[in-house]
Amino acid sequence: SFRALIVDKTEEGFVREIRELTREDLPPGELLIRVRYSSVNYKDGLAGQPNGRVVTAYPLVPGIDLAGEVAESSDARFPAGSEVLVTGYGLGVSHSGGYAAYARVPADWAIRLPAGLTPREAMACGTAGFTAALSVARLEAAGLAPEHGPVLVTGATGGVGSFAVAMLAQLGYRVAAGTGKAAEHAFLRELGAAEVVPREELAPPEKPLPLGLPRWAAAVDPVGGPALARTLATVRYGGAVAVSGLAGGTELPATVLPFILRGVSLLGIDSVQCPMEERQAIWQRLAGDLKPRRLEAMIGEIPLEDVPEAMDAILQGRMRGRLVVRL
Ligand code: NAP
Repeated sequence: SFRALIVDKTEEGFVREIRELTREDLPPGELLIRVRYSSVNYKDGLAGQPNGRVVTAYPLVPGIDLAGEVAESSDARFPAGSEVLVTGYGLGVSHSGGYAAYARVPADWAIRLPAGLTPREAMACGTAGFTAALSVARLEAAGLAPEHGPVLVTGATGGVGSFAVAMLAQLGYRVAAGTGKAAEHAFLRELGAAEVVPREELAPPEKPLPLGLPRWAAAVDPVGGPALARTLATVRYGGAVAVSGLAGGTELPATVLPFILRGVSLLGIDSVQCPMEERQAIWQRLAGDLKPRRLEAMIGEIPLEDVPEAMDAILQGRMRGRLVVRL
């Protein structure tokens, strides 16, 4: 048997606890993986709450990211001993995930660990780093280049945000880091931010103007809500915003004016169903030009026992950078 964090809904209510499981408790799949590391994402925080609305099948092992080696395989692409990572699809929401020493998954979900990333580093990136990288790649595909001007990153101390800051800075962009954490300005500058913008300035309490002074060439936005409306209103002519998250709300109190008067584009970013070919290309970049040079300074490491507390902390916006979970 092996240890796993499980969430369950029973007649007594919501349960979140560490239990001993056996392989028979795991869902079907071609690959049995000895998990070495997982991580903590915003969605994992939601999976750890009774009303989080992301888990679709109880009982479940949460953990939307995992990295480890294949222990048993019935798929020729990933023989026993292969180092792999899995993120997204149903992992940790409808199919038991990374918060256990073993996981069983469909081979179609697996990615061979790219050269240049250890399993721990792959989980330091995880879904958050992947989403930041996908955001950067989509902005580049929309034509963004460093000489176009400053790029805003909202929620900059969070997982997606901190990776976006580090990646854009090392690609040569001038990065403006938007944050609610007054105590973390030095951290953001260490990651490469050229300026730090306080959250109040990005989403002022009064009703946002449909258009503001053009300021940003582009933006990476894991926050959504009123700050996204404000961001759209302050992007320069022809710029784009890559939106991935809802940490600041799901509503979008915006007008069409930035789109029709400034040609601004809103790019939707989804890591969960992202097609495999693009996934592999993004992971190659995460192991290469987008791998943050100061990765170690962006991560903390916790054992499985500390995951419940981390699930609460991430929803309260108390995290900085990324947490990897050691199995
Ligand atoms: P995270 O580490 O908690 O980062 C979120 C950051 O947003 C926080 O650190 C905080 O940064 C800021 N924030 C928190 N609450 C806020 C509020 N009420 N108003 C404004 N800003 C707030 O979480 P994450 O794992 O990086 O995920 C970030 C978001 O992206 C989540 O909504 C998540 O669901 C989403 N996401 C989506 C995808 C996808 O495929 N589309 C993939 C990954 C994540 P500061 O304190 O620095 O402001």
